[in-house]
Amino acid sequence: MRAYRMTGTGRVGLVEVADPVPGPGQVRLDVLAAGVCHSDLHVLDSGAGSGWALPFTLGHEICGRVAVLGPGVEDLAVGDQVVVHAPYGCGRCARCAAGMTNYCDLRQSLPAAGIGLGIDGGMADVVLVDRARLVPAPGLDPVEAATLTDAGLTSFHAVAGCREALAEPGSVAVVVGVGGLGHLAVGILRALTAAHVVAVDTRDAALELAERCGAHSMSRPDAAGAVVAAVSAGRGADVVLDFAAAQASLDLAVSLLRTAGELVVVGSGGGAVAVTKPGSLPAGARLRLPFWGSRGELAEVVGLARRGVLPVRAAAFGLAEADRVFEELRRGRVVGRAVLVPGRGA
Ligand SMILES: [Zn+2]
Ligand SMILES: [Zn+2]
Repeated sequence: MRAYRMTGTGRVGLVEVADPVPGPGQVRLDVLAAGVCHSDLHVLDSGAGSGWALPFTLGHEICGRVAVLGPGVEDLAVGDQVVVHAPYGCGRCARCAAGMTNYCDLRQSLPAAGIGLGIDGGMADVVLVDRARLVPAPGLDPVEAATLTDAGLTSFHAVAGCREALAEPGSVAVVVGVGGLGHLAVGILRALTAAHVVAVDTRDAALELAERCGAHSMSRPDAAGAVVAAVSAGRGADVVLDFAAAQASLDLAVSLLRTAGELVVVGSGGGAVAVTKPGSLPAGARLRLPFWGSRGELAEVVGLARRGVLPVRAAAFGLAEADRVFEELRRGRVVGRAVLVPGRGA
């Protein structure tokens, strides 16, 4: 089988490897689609996380079809379409037992961050996955379904944490950075909250995408302060979700917050927020650093998608095009999510 493997810092390529054989409790999936994430670039450029064993196959956003059942797996059938809950956990703590492997207490010392992040992932013809990580996703377009597992799940988890603050009509939520995650966050905010949604991006195409996903107001960064003031009667935003989290976007996000508003830092763009009192954050501000989401939340995201309320924007490419897709993502040319499809142009 083919696999897109990282072999060292900045070194990645498509190679032939042996088909893996599922052990007890495992399932082998034929990969139908694997999303390409900004985290993949971070991992590639930084030489992977500390202590991860190389090489490994990239790809943590996976939709697949059950191909081979390992010993003891009896509640799935060959041919079932599933998505993968990829965050890695110790498997023994209470949070892991509850499906919250994204917040495993031992996260700092684990040998991997997830499937495709330290252990073999889905940018391949097949992938091995523990049964417990699989969520059925029948009837969904595989390309869209793949994006639900990180872009969708991370956005859902980020929004779910501020539903209360956005329950009232007249509340204002700002999405900074309308990329692979941000466009789904706009749709999820519309589905789960009563907020007026303001989308902020530097790119025209991203703002058009935000509008199609249901954003009420679109703005370039330099006009965002005036737009938020206009729709909030001058109060500022109840919640600002920053999907870029570079220095410029975080500075903007902080400036848009209402008194006792909530800043949700979703991206990993390397920017910093000074937490001082008094300081740039308003009185009563809350700060959250959500990471990915739980298995239960992934099932909820799949449910939303099956109801047709998630406007996924994804573009499909063959596995052999992976190098080029990574380069396009690096240059900021991907609008929505890029997804690799092993069966395409193989
Ligand atoms: Zn990711
Ligand atoms: Zn754990």
